[in-house]
Parts: sequence; C-alpha cells; structure tokens
Amino acid sequence: MNRNLTLDADEVERLDRVYREGGLRTMASPHIHYHEPACPHPGCGHKMEWIDFQLELFGDLEGIYKPLVKAWWEGSGFVGRCPSCGGWIRFTTLRMEPLTDDQASPHLKLPDHGRRSHNSARSLTLHLERRTT
Ligand SMILES: [Zn+2]
Repeated sequence: MNRNLTLDADEVERLDRVYREGGLRTMASPHIHYHEPACPHPGCGHKMEWIDFQLELFGDLEGIYKPLVKAWWEGSGFVGRCPSCGGWIRFTTLRMEPLTDDQASPHLKLPDHGRRSHNSARSLTLHLERRTT
C-alpha cells in the first residue's frame, strides 16, 4: 500500500480495513510492500521490502493456505522467522513486529520452509527472499 505521510493514523487504519476486506472476499494470496523493510529485531537490519508469502506452494489448501490467508486479511497476520537473524516476526498488512518465542507461540505460523532439510522443496525457501523485479 502506498501511503503518504499526510494521512493520520485513523485514516491509515480505515484504508487498511478496506484493503483487507477486499482481500478477504477474494482470499487473495498475501503479498506486501513494507515501507520500513528492515527486520524489526535489534541489530539485524535484514531487508524484506517486498514479500510474496507464496502460501499456495505448500500444497495444503485447507491446512495452511486458507487459515493463513484468512488471518492475514482479518488483520491478525501470522508469524515467521527472519531468514537472517532467526527472530520471530509478526507480519500484518500494516507492519512487521518483533516477537519473542513466548509472544509468537499463540500465532499462526508460516510453516518452516525447510531451512534444515534442503531437499524438501526448493520453492519453499523463496518465501522471504527479496523480490528483484
Ligand atoms: Zn532479522
């Protein structure tokens, strides 16, 4: 979402709600551009400006795609690990927030993209890489 700085917080939240309602209706695959793209964990700074979560690549419509897509458009978002520092991040349509292990535990999580088992599926490692185009 391209927001300029003259919008106040209420307006940003109103527009975010409209945006999310549209996405929820169509169950659109989440992708996002963050204006503050650095990992929110102190000392990391890993840039995640454009993220395409590519949830469809998990091939699990009922178990993964639908619940995560729904959480995204309802505004609660989901959590995943920063590919650089490994810290938990809560991703929403508005921002990235740093979470501790305890804070992350009640949230829906992005499945582990096989950082440990590289032969699972090559495509699954793409989820947090920065888009180049
Ligand atoms: Zn990080």
